[in-house]
Amino acid sequence: MNHDVIVIGGGPAGSETARLIAEKGYKVLVAEEHRKIGEPIQCAGLISLRTLQTAVMPVGIIINQINGAFVHSPGGEVLTVRDQGGYAFVIDRSKFDRVLSERAQSAGAEILTGTKAAVGEFFSGGASVKLKSRGGESITKTRLLIGADGSKSHVARRIKAPEAEDVIRMCAAEVELKCLEKDMVHIFLGREIAPGWFGWVIPVDKKYARVGIGVSGKGKQPISYFNRMVDTYPGIFKGMKIVRATGGVVPIGLLPRMYGERTLLVGDAACQTKPISGGGLYLGLLGAALCAKVATKALSKGNLSPEFLSEYQWLWEREVADEIQIALRHRNIFLTMSDKEMDQLIRFFSHPLWQSVISRYGDIDYPSRLAGKLIFARPWAEKFFMAGVKKILNYCSAARA
Ligand SMILES: Cc1cc2nc3c(=O)[nH]c(=O)nc-3n(C[C@H](O)[C@H](O)[C@H](O)COP(=O)(O)OP(=O)(O)OC[C@H]3O[C@@H](n4cnc5c(N)ncnc54)[C@H](O)[C@@H]3O)c2cc1C
Repeated sequence: MNHDVIVIGGGPAGSETARLIAEKGYKVLVAEEHRKIGEPIQCAGLISLRTLQTAVMPVGIIINQINGAFVHSPGGEVLTVRDQGGYAFVIDRSKFDRVLSERAQSAGAEILTGTKAAVGEFFSGGASVKLKSRGGESITKTRLLIGADGSKSHVARRIKAPEAEDVIRMCAAEVELKCLEKDMVHIFLGREIAPGWFGWVIPVDKKYARVGIGVSGKGKQPISYFNRMVDTYPGIFKGMKIVRATGGVVPIGLLPRMYGERTLLVGDAACQTKPISGGGLYLGLLGAALCAKVATKALSKGNLSPEFLSEYQWLWEREVADEIQIALRHRNIFLTMSDKEMDQLIRFFSHPLWQSVISRYGDIDYPSRLAGKLIFARPWAEKFFMAGVKKILNYCSAARA
């Protein structure tokens, strides 16, 4: 066997998993198809202090501090939430990936960039992987395979992992834009603006921002919604110049199986993203720690069967299933809301009491902390109650049938 572990994908989840396994003395190879780690960037780079601490990032990674948000309802209501403590941070995402990759390399992992990997055959004792680079093609063998190859994971398809519950398609850009308050993000809601998701402006400084939009649903083109958002809010987007266009997809849901024969999935490939914001860096790091823990245990015991590797699923669900399920429930309520109901809700939350509840309990990594308080917000509680009643009625009629 040439390697103990081959990690396909040199993004943050892959690098972090590789580092943790290499630190235990195993021979790890990371194959990354792009020539430079961290490029091209497909991310708005907005993360919590908790994520920075989990990743043990140097302070220099922070480009801007965000202290609050303007949430725009479809009918023009604006909810302002401010938190002086640093609600989130805008980071240099490219550098974030490089730091994690360099750490994996220092721990002993071999990093092959410009190398596309494809899973070959599984056989008793290992799996073969085809590596394709400018230099040509080769086949190598590994005891364990880790699919950290992002939202369109080839490894996930290869082990027939279940599909994500939903996929959000995003159109985004780095832009020159006058940001009047550089510590405040803008969030745009509305079925016409961003069906099933939201649009955003994240200031990088006073003259530069990251702008984007996500949409849920087949056949919807995020770029047309991006253009519509820009046209709808001329006061915010006036004079905007696109410097670099980007985009991508974010899978959401709780994947019921993130393992297979000699294989583990991590990061976006395992749907380790937050169902309300789509952020995947925090959960990807948590996933990497659990993935590496089970991988090293399986390697040391010489048991790489799906049954043994399923401990990863159990650990993951124990750690985050409740949080993800709560977020999905709230997202499902959001999906049923008309534009008029969103207007009412934003108006309701604009009351100073609710503003202080939101800034006190709002947590971009754990939205359930705020969700628990929303039960006291009449318009939201009513929707929740009605959704519960509907579920019970559906259940009763299904049971009768
Ligand atoms: C527009 C947009 C904005 C976002 N904004 C945020 C944000 O503000 N905050 C946040 O936390 N998250 C954000 N996310 C999500 C975040 O970017 C992802 O969750 C995160 O990148 C997942 O990390 P990963 O390592 O799992 O996958 P990735 O970062 O996607 O890395 C996967 C790597 O695998 C490589 N790869 C794929 N196939 C192969 C192959 N066959 N061989 C070799 N290499 C391969 C790819 O080149 C890639 O480098 C955003 C996503 C998008 C699309």
